[in-house]
Amino acid sequence: MDKALHTRQIRSFAAQLGFDYCGIAKAVQLQEDARRLELWLNKGFQGSMGYMENYFDLRIDPTRLVPGAKSVITLLLNYFPAETQQPQAPKIAKYAYGEDYHEVIRAKLRTFQQMIRDTIGEVNGRGFVDSAPVLERAWAKKSGLGWIGKNGNLIHPKAGSFFFIATMIVDLDLEYDDPIAKDYCGTCTRCIDACPTQAILPGKVVDGSKCISYFTIELKDLLIPSEVKGDFEGWMFGCDTCQDVCPWNRFSKPTQEKAFAPLPEILNFSTNEWEVLTEDAFRKIFKDSPLKRSKWKGIQRNLNFIKL
Ligand code: SF4
Ligand code: SF4
Repeated sequence: MDKALHTRQIRSFAAQLGFDYCGIAKAVQLQEDARRLELWLNKGFQGSMGYMENYFDLRIDPTRLVPGAKSVITLLLNYFPAETQQPQAPKIAKYAYGEDYHEVIRAKLRTFQQMIRDTIGEVNGRGFVDSAPVLERAWAKKSGLGWIGKNGNLIHPKAGSFFFIATMIVDLDLEYDDPIAKDYCGTCTRCIDACPTQAILPGKVVDGSKCISYFTIELKDLLIPSEVKGDFEGWMFGCDTCQDVCPWNRFSKPTQEKAFAPLPEILNFSTNEWEVLTEDAFRKIFKDSPLKRSKWKGIQRNLNFIKL
């Protein structure tokens, strides 16, 4: 009885906070997903993203993150923008149009946890968003929120893949969702065919070290390797190609989250405006933006690289 009530309350809190979908799975060890991650790491697909090798044991077992963990709650937040960049602009991945999602979602998770405690009682839990040793997509899949597409993204059957995924592990018994039984990619290969750097491999494996997002955001070297010169198709920060071509994203609807409203500079800056942007101005305009991860220097490096 309590379990059903608590589950209803938690789903209602998630909706009140603006999360688009909420799925719940039993907090078990993720042996199969951990094995896939191990294989992926052994092949060096993480490139210089050494942090992905950390916390391996914690990734497998939610009880290592929250003692006595019983349930993993997955929350999806849509970031698909209502407007797109002007056609000639250096391209920026849509997740980075507005404010940094880490801050926006962390604040929501804090409130979510407080709502749970205020209503249900002393529940221990920890919230994560793309920053800790949690296999978010695996939990999302387990809790019925979609399947993992060939491009490595979680695809929701009614809403596509332009979502941030947040996870909260709690020591509270809840009712669990069933995973989606089928993979609806079927024979489609659009993302594989469209990937500008052939980073999508058979078996739903993405070679992170070949992905434009890696080169333009994660790679901190002064220079991007010359082997990929001419391949970026105008992407200056991140890449959305494998999501843009995915037929399931025809269901994408504009986000309701005000913090993700696009910065006017992101929509309107021309190549020339990016080129003449000073470091000071960059810091001011993009102080709350995911672009600050690359820093001004990184953006200038990327801009030079995509110029033909
Ligand atoms: S984000 Fe771009 S480069 Fe990376 S796998 Fe997708 S299409 Fe390829
Ligand atoms: S483009 Fe096709 S193959 Fe790729 S993730 Fe979407 S449905 Fe799956």
